[in-house]
Amino acid sequence: MSAVLNPPQREAIRYLDGPLLVLAGAGSGKTRVITQKIAYLIQECGFSPSNIAAITFTNKAAKEMQERVAQLLDGKPDGLTISTFHSLGMRILREEAKVLGYKPRFSIFDSNDCFAILSDLSGSADKATIRRLQTLISNWKNGLIQPDAALANAESEIEKLAAQAYASYAATLKAYQAVDFDDLIVLPVLLFDSYPEVLDKWQNRLRYLLVDEYQDTNACQYRLLKQIAGPRAAFTAVGDDDQAIYGWRGADIENLRGLPRDYPNLKLIKLEQNYRSTVRILKAANAVISHNEKLFDKKLWSDLGHGEAISVTVCRDSEKEAEHVAMKLQAHRFEHRGKFSDYAILYRGNFQARIIEQHLRDQRVPYLLSGGQSFFDKAEIKDITAYLRLLANNDDDPAFIRAVTTPKRGVGSSTLEALGTYAGERHISLFAAAFEEGFARRVQARQLGPLVDFCEFINRIEYRAQREPAGTVMNDLLGAIGYEAWLMSEEERKVAMTRWESVQELVSWLARRGEEDNKNLIELTQMIALINMLEKREDADAPDAVQLSTLHASKGLEFKHVFLIGVEEGVLPHRESLDPVKLEEERRLMYVGITRAQRSLHVTYAERRKQGRDFFPCEPSRFIAEMGEDLRFSGGKVDAPPDKATGAARLAAMRAMLAGKAG
Ligand code: ATP
Ligand code: MG
Repeated sequence: MSAVLNPPQREAIRYLDGPLLVLAGAGSGKTRVITQKIAYLIQECGFSPSNIAAITFTNKAAKEMQERVAQLLDGKPDGLTISTFHSLGMRILREEAKVLGYKPRFSIFDSNDCFAILSDLSGSADKATIRRLQTLISNWKNGLIQPDAALANAESEIEKLAAQAYASYAATLKAYQAVDFDDLIVLPVLLFDSYPEVLDKWQNRLRYLLVDEYQDTNACQYRLLKQIAGPRAAFTAVGDDDQAIYGWRGADIENLRGLPRDYPNLKLIKLEQNYRSTVRILKAANAVISHNEKLFDKKLWSDLGHGEAISVTVCRDSEKEAEHVAMKLQAHRFEHRGKFSDYAILYRGNFQARIIEQHLRDQRVPYLLSGGQSFFDKAEIKDITAYLRLLANNDDDPAFIRAVTTPKRGVGSSTLEALGTYAGERHISLFAAAFEEGFARRVQARQLGPLVDFCEFINRIEYRAQREPAGTVMNDLLGAIGYEAWLMSEEERKVAMTRWESVQELVSWLARRGEEDNKNLIELTQMIALINMLEKREDADAPDAVQLSTLHASKGLEFKHVFLIGVEEGVLPHRESLDPVKLEEERRLMYVGITRAQRSLHVTYAERRKQGRDFFPCEPSRFIAEMGEDLRFSGGKVDAPPDKATGAARLAAMRAMLAGKAG
């Protein structure tokens, strides 16, 4: 192995005598340990790549890891698994679908699909209620609590409502041959619990497991990990308790504590050298996180020099903040002769992105947005993916309805109602019902014609989808349904053009991924559902562009220069996360943000933030005061030069203010 490794990293890579936990702070090379260990297992220990599975937190991280491993091994080894928990779960389910009464080509419903089902079932129109039901059901699923048990133990009104909906919800998904995101983990766990011989097979296949970002696994994922690892317990988990930021989604730091309990022979290795950031950045990060209760004692140092001062800029309002960031970024880049892609702008909530986007566009700064509104949530993309879902799974009734009615093709609502009634009586899918004689007898020929034509069209495309390149099939599909012309007829020209462009983007994405991964359209369709529960949108080829990202989606990544914006009370920490437990998670989020930076860090906050039409006053985040004294302040009401004295004075005032608030 050519790459440089320090002694504990080398130890972690070579350790194969039992379960191993690498616990270390940000930028200490945990992810590097995983990629290097994969290479080590294959090259030095004779592991077959197909016996190794590495699990990361996001698709983006998985992709990056694949690239790093391919570099180390001169190409992508056949059969190596590098995926998220969810795509591993999907793979297991596809292969074992039959055992669970599913077709291998089941659909994966995203949270909007599931929301629609629940709003039908509950008969409630109140969005907040339905979302509450969704959360409760999700919690039950992840706790492996079945509908009957949920019903038996439901106490409050809302719990009772949710528990009643839960059973029909599960039945509806099953009828559509669909699973939701939770099922992707929960069903494999249940499967392995009930079918030891199936578990045996997977234990023999995935003989060595590596898990990145271990601190953010939830209880169910941990259970899946334990099942597959089995008594052999051949795994390496790496993580950082100070970067656990998914508690709100059920991730549980307890899993870190539980590991030594469940595996008494667990080996623990700590890494203490940070190779990412300058001393200043690291000091500020350490200072902030030292305000949290410690789970594990860790040290982190860097020998990359003190580096550029951390700047804290007070902006008059959120507009000015965006303007400042765009201009400062340009100036900084010019001065350092850097690339746009050396820069990231990180923020707490998606709502902060729009105004930044505007100013970046004004300044002609190219940017990539991740973690924002999903590409796959756009109406036109949902239209087209409805066709794809239907190709892959004829039983996917919601996809059927959307596809058969978009564009309109002479299948009216009365026909669909008759079809729905018939399918319901016979417990079959809409697609299957369309071909039945019993149904044909109930409707007139002019109603039946277009419906059967549509289903036969789907069948023909499905046949081709399994044999021809994805791009070709897509273009023919779009031509046949006349989607572009339909868009033009439905929408204003400019809107229609933008929508058609997204569709084109989807086509080229499918064509490219099809070629790269050697996957057909149906296999690609199954991937789409998994792209991006978190990072939402996969970047096309990364051009030279500034990365805009939520703090959550920035986990594991690094950038030369980072702008951390909106560092205000109420934003970071979030106004709904001010109780002691949630506040610690907010602080970890701040820690994650600071530690993404390699060379320079620019913190900004606004004195007033626009919400709707009005401006509201804001206070600097307590986390700024927690960063220590080595900060360079500028801007704000007092137009004094940002010299040390003013900075210190300002900081002192801020501390006093924060102390006052705490008291
Ligand atoms: P995070 O907690 O943010 O996920 P991490 O612990 O996974 O961070 P890595 O991303 O693996 O850290 O490494 C951080 C940076 O340090 C990377 O650029 C990596 O290439 C570099 N690095 C890691 N180990 C070494 C080493 N021994 N020598 C030189 N560079 C290293
Ligand atoms: Mg990492």
